[in-house]
Amino acid sequence: MKKIYFITGSQDLYGDETLKQVAVDSQEMVAFLNEKVKKAEIVWQNTVRNSEEAEDVLLRASADKDCIAVITWMHTFSPAKMWIKGLQRLMKPLLHLHTQFNRELPYKTIDMDFMNLNQSAHGDREYGFICTRLGIQREVVAGYYKNESVLKRINRFVDVAIAMDFSHSLRVAMFGNNMRDVAVTDGDRVESEIRFGWNVNYYGIGDLVELVDGVTQKEVDEKMASYAEKYEIRTDNLDAVKEQAKYEIALEKFLAKERIGAFTDTFQDLHGLKQLPGLAVQNVMANGVGFGPEGDYKTSALMAVLCKMAEGRTGATAFLEDYTYDLCEGEELELASHMLEVSPVFADGKPTVEVHPLGIGGKEPPARLVFDGIVGKGIAVSMVDMGTHFRLICANIELVKQPEAMPKLPVARVMWKILPDFASGAESWIYAGGAHHAVVSTALTKEDIALFAKLTDTEVVFIGF
Ligand code: MN
Repeated sequence: MKKIYFITGSQDLYGDETLKQVAVDSQEMVAFLNEKVKKAEIVWQNTVRNSEEAEDVLLRASADKDCIAVITWMHTFSPAKMWIKGLQRLMKPLLHLHTQFNRELPYKTIDMDFMNLNQSAHGDREYGFICTRLGIQREVVAGYYKNESVLKRINRFVDVAIAMDFSHSLRVAMFGNNMRDVAVTDGDRVESEIRFGWNVNYYGIGDLVELVDGVTQKEVDEKMASYAEKYEIRTDNLDAVKEQAKYEIALEKFLAKERIGAFTDTFQDLHGLKQLPGLAVQNVMANGVGFGPEGDYKTSALMAVLCKMAEGRTGATAFLEDYTYDLCEGEELELASHMLEVSPVFADGKPTVEVHPLGIGGKEPPARLVFDGIVGKGIAVSMVDMGTHFRLICANIELVKQPEAMPKLPVARVMWKILPDFASGAESWIYAGGAHHAVVSTALTKEDIALFAKLTDTEVVFIGF
């Protein structure tokens, strides 16, 4: 399990008695937090009393590969010049917890000793100043540490820190390059690695074809059995389904061998494959592997990161594309889908496996999952490259039931309402330069994206909240 260092600040002036009490109190807080935080272990650190100790612990946090973040709290006053050198060395996300060990003020017994021991109001302001002066992007959470609202924000920070740690070592494979002439899916791959850690590399589709050719009959049979369990097979063309089973097996092997967490393909570069990967990609996506079509590495990587952030929560997270609208005034709806690749995490009910011709790409009819989408509150998140910086665009949407059946539409689809209304929402998205590809999530919220943007120092535009 990943770790989060919990660092309590104080100083030498108070004497042993006070420092002993600071240590006892902060250990009790850490024990409590470990009951409430499930996705990482909070690790108590010795109280920091001076500049050398601050630098030592923050350097250790930065160097510890298992440490994904740091929580700091000033139990007493802690003169902040002593934090400068340590904070300059800190490379991990920071949560500044502004709290107290005691909840109520002990009105009847309070004296100067109590005041000296419990002065977060004082010490956290001094510490906050130096963080701001140093320009450190961090999350400040104020309130009694046992409050549900405070714990909720700490847990959100943990989710985002885990996602950032994952992002830092995310490897992205592009089968083929960006779709010819498409602008928004392209981007600066070097800058993506500098900003987010994404190591994005090109692979020849032949590397995958070789693995496809090596898939055994037994492996295909097992995969077909798993399809029959999860889905309703609604086709006689089982050979086409088996072809996708091979692609899925080959993809899984490739991802494992190259330690890849997100990938792209493009229908313009499928040499050696009989079909555009559809069912195969849909299944791989359902496991939280990032996917972007047409060489869209940003959407692919962002999907993998947001799936990591959403781990353990209820709801669905995956790539979707803005496709077409119902523009009845006041009731406008968007239909989101793709040529084939819609993750079954969005399925309302049991998807069907179907084989239909594809009008683009000149390949054999591919097998794909077809289903109607789930309903509920959601967000659509897009990342674009502005040339000087990356921009996140996060829109408020409400996934809705499709008003009527669409018996002739051979792809999975999700429908939603753009908020606050169609014109403002769609116009804002277009002004902001938002892509036609997005990561849609019913598990994550605006607050998660805001925190991710803040801690990664990324520009973000919110629409419809
Ligand atoms: Mn597309």
